[in-house]
Order: sequence, then structure tokens, then C-alpha cells
Amino acid sequence: MHIQTHILSGWCAADCFQLTPRERFFAMIAASVADLDGLGIIVSLECYVEYHHVLAHNALFGVLLATVLALFSRHRIKTFWLYLALFHLHLILDYYGSGLGWGIHYLWPFSDHDFLNPTAWELNSWQNIVTTSALLIWTIVIAVKKHRTPLELMLPSLDQRFVASFRSKH
Ligand SMILES: [Zn+2]
Repeated sequence: MHIQTHILSGWCAADCFQLTPRERFFAMIAASVADLDGLGIIVSLECYVEYHHVLAHNALFGVLLATVLALFSRHRIKTFWLYLALFHLHLILDYYGSGLGWGIHYLWPFSDHDFLNPTAWELNSWQNIVTTSALLIWTIVIAVKKHRTPLELMLPSLDQRFVASFRSKH
């Protein structure tokens, strides 16, 4: 599934909990950073095919990721489980929405078995478009009601301009 969908999934899920701005930012990272293993595309297509959905789409990476992010969070126990759940949400979204032939190597490096969905949706399927659109609408609702966007921590002035823009239309 597209990276922006993963990022928004973390943002929207984090809104269901009492979190600090940094924890909400970490939730977006937890929901999306697995796709770093797709950076092999910079090197070559073979590298991309070999390592995407392998290096960072496995349980070990998920536990390490959630642990490191939780260590830098205020609510460590609560956020550890949230980050771990969001990492798995990423895998579930990929399992259904990454197109055919992109199995998840969940047990790597202990096993090379890939969990392959024979009926996965194509990347540009209507299901993925609906998912992204729903998350986008949810993000706008958060902006209107809670006065924040996914940019709150990194680009606060742009965040507030977006919030003002959304609120002026409602
Ligand atoms: Zn992925």
C-alpha cells in the first residue's frame, strides 16, 4: 500500500488515544517506517525485489521498532503496544493492498517463508483509493475538531495554516 496511506493510518489511530505530539509523530513512524526496506530501488530493481517486504516487514523489526520508539515516549507501556499494533496494521494493509506477488516475510530472518495473499488488490485499486480517502477525511475531521494535522511537530506554522484553512470552510 502507498506510504501516505500508512502515515495517515498512524495519525488517525493515534487520535484515539491521549498522546503527546511526539507520540503521535512516532505513531506515524511506527505505521510507515517498514517501507524503508523499499529503498533498495535506489540501488537496483533486483535489490528492491529481493529486500522489499523482507528486511523491515517482519516481527523482529516490529518489536525493535516499538521498543525504541516507546523508550523515547512519555507513556512507554501504552505506546509500545500502540506502536507494535500500528506496525502490524502496516503489514495487514500491505497483505491486502500491495498487489499480487508481494508476500510478507514475517518470520525473517528465522524463516524465509512469505505470507502471500493470492487475492491481493493492486496498488492502484479502488479499495486502496477508498482506504486512503477515508483516512484523508478522518485527518480533516481531526484538523477541524482538534486543531492539529500530521505536520504539528515538524512544521508547526504550516500545521496551523492548514488548521485555519480547514476551519474556515466549516
Ligand atoms: Zn510496506
